[in-house]
Amino acid sequence: MPLDADSLPLQAPRRTARLPPAPDAAKRALALEAHARLCAEYDCPIAYFHALPPLDELVSSLLSHRTKNRDSARAFQALRAAFPDWAAVRDAPVAAVEQAIAGVTWPEAKAPALQRTLRAITGQRGTLDLSHLEAMPEAEAAAWLAVLPGVGPKTAAAVLSFSTLRGRALPVDSHHHRVAQRLGLIPRGLAVGPSHAVLAALLPAEWDAQQVYDHHQVLMRHGQRCCFFRNPACGRCVLRDLCPEGQARLAGSA
Ligand code: SF4
Repeated sequence: MPLDADSLPLQAPRRTARLPPAPDAAKRALALEAHARLCAEYDCPIAYFHALPPLDELVSSLLSHRTKNRDSARAFQALRAAFPDWAAVRDAPVAAVEQAIAGVTWPEAKAPALQRTLRAITGQRGTLDLSHLEAMPEAEAAAWLAVLPGVGPKTAAAVLSFSTLRGRALPVDSHHHRVAQRLGLIPRGLAVGPSHAVLAALLPAEWDAQQVYDHHQVLMRHGQRCCFFRNPACGRCVLRDLCPEGQARLAGSA
């Protein structure tokens, strides 16, 4: 049974793995121009959508893979209602956890995976708590999270950015990824996981956490509201003169 790539256990990096090449100036300029136009369109700064502690955010994020926001939010609340704390979720019979999160996609896989992640945190920290991440630089905190089972680049970035840590981290979801590909910010064949480092490297180092969050939000919103998976609305897109895919589609329709 398939799971989102971000939810699969992280494999040890191969020795041949390389850092992404330094972004060229044209791609950086394109990212900044797209950001400016989309921020005008979607009204930056964008309010953070919730303020969960980092461990709660991690659980929420693990439940959300390939699941509608409404369903994963309900499952998160059901989990909170069914167990007094995360230690109780960790130590419960897996069937009880699966029952509590029945509304998400693949609860039979997510329940044991969630317990594995909670056990791994306990093993690393001696307690179920992620508050130590606050004192770490974002890259170090992301690396710490990414060795946990089931935690990939998207989940690590979500914990750092969306939780009360309010870190300077860039999550990339499927909408964000699609818009970035069509604009030419990343190569066509680059998967969501490795695209995190490439897209984050395009952003100015002096941007604060809110600006990085806004960048993710506006790219994601644009994918949801205009740059649809099927039939993107290129004719009304504020990025159409910047976008090779949009230009090709508009020329084809003409
Ligand atoms: S021009 Fe079309 S393909 Fe390009 S970003 Fe806009 S909607 Fe997407």
